Amino acid sequence: MQVCEIINVGTELLLGEILNTNAQFLCRELAAMGISVQRVNTVGDNPQRLREDFMLALGRSDIVILTGGLGPTQDDLTKEVVAEALGLLLQEDAKQMQCIEDFFRVRCQPCVQSNRKQAMVPQGCTVLYNENGTAPGIYIETLQAPPHAGELARDCATEGATKIVVLLPGPPRELQHMFANMLAPMLQQCSDGVIVSHHLRTMGIGEGRMAELCDSFLSSTNPTVAPYAKEGEAYLRISAAAATQAQAEDMCDCTIKKLQHVLGNYAYSVDKPLEQVVLELLHAQHKTLAIAESCTGGSICKRLTDLPGASQVFGWGFITYANEAKQNLLNVSCETISRFGAVSAECAQEMALGALVRSGASLALAVTGMASPADDTDKPAGLIFLHATDGSQHKSLKLETGRSDRAYNRSVATKHALDLVRQLMI
Ligand code: AMP
Ligand code: MG
Repeated sequence: MQVCEIINVGTELLLGEILNTNAQFLCRELAAMGISVQRVNTVGDNPQRLREDFMLALGRSDIVILTGGLGPTQDDLTKEVVAEALGLLLQEDAKQMQCIEDFFRVRCQPCVQSNRKQAMVPQGCTVLYNENGTAPGIYIETLQAPPHAGELARDCATEGATKIVVLLPGPPRELQHMFANMLAPMLQQCSDGVIVSHHLRTMGIGEGRMAELCDSFLSSTNPTVAPYAKEGEAYLRISAAAATQAQAEDMCDCTIKKLQHVLGNYAYSVDKPLEQVVLELLHAQHKTLAIAESCTGGSICKRLTDLPGASQVFGWGFITYANEAKQNLLNVSCETISRFGAVSAECAQEMALGALVRSGASLALAVTGMASPADDTDKPAGLIFLHATDGSQHKSLKLETGRSDRAYNRSVATKHALDLVRQLMI
């Protein structure tokens, strides 16, 4: 069995400023993959001590995973220390440089020299491109430990085997995504068995409540069941380790069925995105959907039309940002707007009914809300009203996110809107 060692880098960890959740996450994931983590070490942002600890780890372990210290600032030195210790030069990775430039361009922020430093990677490594930040992960296979590591305790490493050195970014969100999507499949090859993971996705129930309901499953070891929150959604990841893929799939399947039973309608899919679930329901029930959007500005329509086959069930989308648009296109009454405001349950309902009538669709969905704070109203940012109807049945929802974050509010509104349509059809 491959022996793994983790080094978490960051002075903030040693000062007790933050909890070392990366160690917990990696230990849990690696264990489930059949990779034995035998040591976890935390070291500050100090190049000498980091080098010493790294060399020690390399001498005695098959896989060394370092986290943190990949940021753009002066104290982020993990990459430099590891490259120097392995005798590798740092060179610019063109694709990573492009990713960094794109990252700043879409945020309309300048890309400064220290950010460009993040595109420098050790020669011969595999770059793990970071989809959530600017620090790339690094995967290095080195045939042998450097000579100076040879004297060190070789208590458990596999003799003569290739050493794997991995560098992951510190922010847990970036690390977890990179691990699940890029590193885990690569490390799987070092393990005797297989691990299969599925995500049971839920909407409308917070991560805490979901975890509470599934509490008895969370301590199971194989399959493991781990909750995690996505913006406005909560997932359970079910991972089973077994000798074969079929065995692992069966083990996951059995646990997923039990969890679905516990979570009922909150669980909307295994692995599938919400818009796909909605499209499949519309197809299966031979229904069509019309959508009226205000604060989401078309993002619900976008998510649906991102999928092939959308045109058979979705034909009409109305983006009615202005009051006149709501009145002229969707027949929202002037009185409703003056009495309750454009951000109101009444307006959402009239928008949905208007969209239903104008389009002739079998179902209509409407959303109106405050994406950011505004001067001309005392309604708070994050107040969002949703309404779905088929003309006789109605489902409505009021969200109060309490946040001024425009992107967050729009994204959460979009997810809940899709879920409301799902609920109307189940
Ligand atoms: P770094 O990659 O060292 O710049 O780390 C960036 C940020 O990630 C830190 O400021 C912490 O908030 C977080 N972070 C780093 N290491 C860990 C860790 N081991 N566990 C949890 N959070 C971490
Ligand atoms: Mg750091």
